[in-house]
Amino acid sequence: MQFSFPPSPPAAVPVAGTDQLFPVHRIYCVGRNYAEHAKEMGGTGREAPFFFMKPADAVLPVAEGAIGKMPYPAMTSDLHHEIELVVAIGKGGKNIAAADALRHVWGYAVGLDMTRRDLQGEAKKLGRPWCTGKGFDHSAPIAPIYPVTKTGWIADGAIHLNVNGAPRQKSDIGKLIWSVSETIEHLSRYYALEPGDLIFTGTPEGVASVKQGDLLEGAIDGLGELRLKII
Ligand code: MN
Repeated sequence: MQFSFPPSPPAAVPVAGTDQLFPVHRIYCVGRNYAEHAKEMGGTGREAPFFFMKPADAVLPVAEGAIGKMPYPAMTSDLHHEIELVVAIGKGGKNIAAADALRHVWGYAVGLDMTRRDLQGEAKKLGRPWCTGKGFDHSAPIAPIYPVTKTGWIADGAIHLNVNGAPRQKSDIGKLIWSVSETIEHLSRYYALEPGDLIFTGTPEGVASVKQGDLLEGAIDGLGELRLKII
């Protein structure tokens, strides 16, 4: 048997300090996982974590030291930044207990959950899916992945995003409502996790819109920087 036409190459993200590529299987995202961001989006109190997805080929890998280029997407006039800790899964599983979850982590990266907020807002209002607001082309810019063997397990550390040099988002990974372990526990009840899955763990407060020409500079302690220009 042969493919009818050559399959697309797998989506992949560089591994920091190596010439390796981490092949991406799926991209899961957690909604409202920092208290102050949950408030700014209209949430109240601790809700069970909820999830949405982006296509694997929505990744926009940005090499170490480079400035990535993200085309301003169509069909929106309110493109928002969401700086996030991304967890890369190296070992799959279903119904993973929080106590075992960190053994499934392969590494970490700085990522941006870019969002067409106007489309997401309309979808929320109408009870429709979030796909067009969240899962569009190039909607997942990501810096190189740092293997956990280099970083150790990450439970806290500063996370921030500047736009054109001005601070927009600033928090600490320790403020996640649902920790990485708890997130993996919940997510793996709904889906069989596989090596290559990426989990965008949620964004802190301060989300806002960007326009063509803006320079986004995000960082997380120990995971380097993610720089991105909107073109
Ligand atoms: Mn997000």
